[in-house]
Amino acid sequence: MNLERSRALQRAAEALLPGGVDSPVRSFRAVGGEPRWIARGEGAWLVDADGNRYLDYICSWGALLFGHAHPPVLAALARAAQAGTSFGASSPLELALAESVHRMVPAAEMLRFVNSGTEATMAAIRLARGATDRMGVIQFAGGYHGHADVFLAQAGSGLATQGLAASAGVPPEAVTHTHTVPYNDAAAVERALRAHAGAFAAIIIEPVAGNMGCVPPRPGFLAALRHLATQHGALLIFDEVMTGFRVAAAGAGAHFGVAPDLITLGKIVGGGLPCAAYAGRAEIMRQVAPLGPVYQAGTLSGNPLAMAAGLATLEAIAAHPELHAELERRGAWLQSGLEAAIAQAGVAARVQRVGSMLTVFFSEKPVENFADAGACDRAAFARFHQALLERGVMWPPSQFEAAFFGAAHGDAEIEATLQAAAVALRAAAG
Ligand SMILES: *Cc1c(COP(=O)(O)O)cnc(C)c1O
Repeated sequence: MNLERSRALQRAAEALLPGGVDSPVRSFRAVGGEPRWIARGEGAWLVDADGNRYLDYICSWGALLFGHAHPPVLAALARAAQAGTSFGASSPLELALAESVHRMVPAAEMLRFVNSGTEATMAAIRLARGATDRMGVIQFAGGYHGHADVFLAQAGSGLATQGLAASAGVPPEAVTHTHTVPYNDAAAVERALRAHAGAFAAIIIEPVAGNMGCVPPRPGFLAALRHLATQHGALLIFDEVMTGFRVAAAGAGAHFGVAPDLITLGKIVGGGLPCAAYAGRAEIMRQVAPLGPVYQAGTLSGNPLAMAAGLATLEAIAAHPELHAELERRGAWLQSGLEAAIAQAGVAARVQRVGSMLTVFFSEKPVENFADAGACDRAAFARFHQALLERGVMWPPSQFEAAFFGAAHGDAEIEATLQAAAVALRAAAG
């Protein structure tokens, strides 16, 4: 595989961009090997700067549900761009996308558009604190809610001990109110709520964890959180930046039959452009400025290009009522094919999947929380990743990131993936 151009670009970039990247996981540091510089995307495929083609299982970290350069999205973008790219005043596309989200996602009685998932979760926490007049936040180890200070607490830190930041540059004060408990452990949540009665504004969770690899909620876990939040006067926030529109058109909360007080959306809601939203019960959302005392603003929020791409994407979902059933069918095929190849290769690995998000964990036992994920064989994962890449399959370059596929991944693509995976799993076995 010729990688001359990618290599040269990476070398030049390392002098200007820390690590040669604009987001750390793109750097390949977790797996070794050489990051590919992407020249273009076509449906389920990526083409690198040297012309090599890859089946894409990153899908812009889940932001793309219909593949790259989806024609209806491109057409909507061209129309919107002709009319001007930013106004700093309300434009009809904002209302159209808001109505679309409101129709599809039951939890979104009212919403506010922002520019990234990080902004959405940061604003949702401020809103929860403002609305409850409490400061405490319960989050789950291995969850990711963007890079705002409040979330960058070490597992086990928080009210019980002293706030310990998980990143340099985060003031200890910013995480003193953050309490981190294990995923899938409702008893730990209950203990925290009881030990610090009246302290917690919110419980924030990915209803299907995707940022420690794909970890589904245990049956009853989300319902238990709903019950505990209500009982203790805390708001339940579902961070659906990854799962929204992917796990189901109505989101993972609706899929599992549990209603949050607030929900954050991102990735798919912007159709591949920078866009996100926080949303929830109307009485809570009315606390946001200019109606209420919780301040939050954005120069480019509701940007017409992002709104147009998001709207075209949501319209494509609404126009295909069978889409998620079809993704489930392909996902089940991909999973059973991978499981057969794992058995054939004799490697200790397992596939965890919810719809079109999945992880091959190099672990004997099920991964139910961050400690389980941390016990996986990362060297085996790195061999798996490298072998897939050499065979033209772009898998996320970390054991702790979910892989994604979408409507552009047809039967031929799944077939090709399974052929490459059979070899890659033998490579992983060492
Ligand atoms: C990606 C992600 C975020 C952060 O979104 P950005 O747009 O990268 O800031 C937050 N929460 C979850 C669950 C995510 O997957």
